[in-house]
Amino acid sequence: MRARLVAGNWKMHGSLVANARLLDALKAGLKQAEGLGYAVCAPFPYLAQVSLALSGSPIAWGAQNISEHDSGAYTGEVSGAMLKEFGCRFAIVGHSERRGLYGEDDGKVAAKFAAARRAGLTPILCVGETLEQRERGETENVVSRQLDAVLDAAGVAALANAVLAYEPVWAIGTGRNATPQQAQVVHAFIRARLAERHRELAQRVTIMYGGSVKPGNARELFAMPDVDGGLIGGASLVAEDFIAICAAARR
Ligand code: PEP
Repeated sequence: MRARLVAGNWKMHGSLVANARLLDALKAGLKQAEGLGYAVCAPFPYLAQVSLALSGSPIAWGAQNISEHDSGAYTGEVSGAMLKEFGCRFAIVGHSERRGLYGEDDGKVAAKFAAARRAGLTPILCVGETLEQRERGETENVVSRQLDAVLDAAGVAALANAVLAYEPVWAIGTGRNATPQQAQVVHAFIRARLAERHRELAQRVTIMYGGSVKPGNARELFAMPDVDGGLIGGASLVAEDFIAICAAARR
């Protein structure tokens, strides 16, 4: 059985007061479940608050970004070692908002993936195509290029301690999710592509789906054989929605 993961990406949302309320509700609502992990990826300034609130709970936490450098004169950046000091288990790399809004190319994403691993963090590597790319029939090429950039640099063994997220850009924050079948096709493609490098690791790696997952569509998405949970944006800010999505991922 592959491990499942449901991770919330809070993006640039939250406040001390709102986070406290959300974290209390998540702690009350999320119980240890066989083969299923939970995580929240909070803005950097709130990681101390999150670590205090969630220590000892079944909910892990992580960052939404990481510097590709370990230390030095990189104003505004945050290193993997710093994230580790605040108990982070995960760091998202290659989110489409970082790729699209902040010009992070495949090389930068690969360097961030490597930095996360050097620090002992589990990278959550996001891949996915834009609507134009899908309409031009380029989904497989785009996803392959994004994966290969990381695996060529890090080596396939890195998959043993990494999580993937297929996030079609056209489904993120749009309310328009991929159908379960559309998600399954790309997840199966990703796994087959990884299997060309390492069959066993490809079978074991967790591939989450992300893009407008809500309580109403989570169960059918997670029922797909290669969909191993979800990376959740908007719905992760609403405790009862995130808890319902996590419940849908239980086997
Ligand atoms: C995301 O930000 O990774 C995401 C999937 O967002 P949403 O669930 O809001 O589409």
